[in-house]
Amino acid sequence: MPRLGGSPCHSRGHPSSTGREQAPSKSSGSPSLGLLWVALALALALALSDSRAGAHPLPIQGPDVLGRLVPQLRAAFGWWNLSCPACKGLFTAIDFGLKRESGVAWVGSVATKMCMRLKIAPPAVCQSTIQLFEDDMVEVWTRSVLSPSEACGLILGSTCGKWDIFSSWNISLPDVPKPTPQPPKPPAPGAPVSRVLFLTDLHWDHDYLEGTDPNCEDPLCCRRDSGPPPASRPGAGYWGEYSKCDLPLRTLESMLSGLGPAGPFDMVYWTGDIPAHNIWHQSRQDQLRALTTVTALVKKFLGPVPVYPAVGNHESTPVNGFPPPFIEGNHSSRWLYEAMAQAWEPWLPAEALHTLRIGGFYALSPRPGLRLISLNMNFCSRENFWLLINSTDPAGQLQWLVGELQAAEDRGDKVHIIGHIPPGHCLRSWSWNYYQIVARYENTLAAQFFGHTHVDEFEIFYDEETLSRPVSVAFLAPSATTYIGLNPVRAPFL
Ligand SMILES: [Zn+2]
Ligand SMILES: [Zn+2]
Repeated sequence: MPRLGGSPCHSRGHPSSTGREQAPSKSSGSPSLGLLWVALALALALALSDSRAGAHPLPIQGPDVLGRLVPQLRAAFGWWNLSCPACKGLFTAIDFGLKRESGVAWVGSVATKMCMRLKIAPPAVCQSTIQLFEDDMVEVWTRSVLSPSEACGLILGSTCGKWDIFSSWNISLPDVPKPTPQPPKPPAPGAPVSRVLFLTDLHWDHDYLEGTDPNCEDPLCCRRDSGPPPASRPGAGYWGEYSKCDLPLRTLESMLSGLGPAGPFDMVYWTGDIPAHNIWHQSRQDQLRALTTVTALVKKFLGPVPVYPAVGNHESTPVNGFPPPFIEGNHSSRWLYEAMAQAWEPWLPAEALHTLRIGGFYALSPRPGLRLISLNMNFCSRENFWLLINSTDPAGQLQWLVGELQAAEDRGDKVHIIGHIPPGHCLRSWSWNYYQIVARYENTLAAQFFGHTHVDEFEIFYDEETLSRPVSVAFLAPSATTYIGLNPVRAPFL
């Protein structure tokens, strides 16, 4: 399996299965979205218990805990002698009540109180985060764990419904025999070299302010709202700070303007996370301002060099909220993908813009013999709460990837994959399927590039038969941002 690492740019409420956490995250005091989830879930559970006197609240910490509590739930509901139609009627009523404006507000206020009582974050942060998340969360919960079919399938068994939250699934590989593995050959001396700039995790903070407190109580500091530091300690620096702070625009500008001697570059891989970590207080307008401002900055300094971006988990708001394309209307990601397609239009061909608009992923051929595939890794993410509704190959992205890789194999092309969240951080079934694909196309897939962890790492994929022969590598670039307590990395290049 790929080596796993902790990540400062995702919440730590969902522990990675075999992951280690990195020092910066541990000391960060960063917002724990997982715990905020718990507060919201508790509020929903209370809403349930409130809906019928004496009802037992639903468990609170996701499918694993739910699984362990199934016997107790069944016993409790069995005690009520709940029939399947009554169960479904009950959950239909609960969902109806919760989805009403007053229901959402009630869930939000209970969750806020819990967030404060459990000291998950400072009160103002609790309040704004839950306000930001409550609507989407209630929508997701009523369409997943609290939907009549899921909930009653869990409580009363498969004769009443189907509980399949995060269940396993398989993509299908074409019926083409795998070519004999070819060990990679180093290029011949004097072979042409292509220089690729690798940018990731810029995290521009619009509200960065020199002299403010770098160790404030909030999850992100060095900002207008952080207040002054205590007299004994210095304030935030002009360029940035070794603390839980992101970067002012001037630092990104300086980084990009100083690239000259490292170039010229043939192309740029830019693997996402443009906005700051003030996830408790972000609007769609804020996110779009970050997208257009930083894209303009990259264009200004890279000039005609083509830039190939990938979608990070911080591009959306609420953070990590990336509904698959079957979610339509105001909850959908259309507002974001449409803006990305407009901002990145000079760099991407029409077919890439088409799939970008649908699901935030695309493929293109930067040069003869090379296919570049940009994945939307939010569709693999444990923190993308929309996947509770359906986590089976969201947007059909992996099946599409197989088609792309097979076509590249047929043409004799090599492939680079870029994305934000590295595959070792993904939901189990997504990761397993991705691993199958990487192993099947090991001759075609030349390298993978990701960000998100903010540190310089790599993940190695091994053959599935012996787990000893490396078949692919994913390079994880360090972040431009100093978040948390890191050196700002001048963009590395390959
Ligand atoms: Zn990040
Ligand atoms: Zn990230």
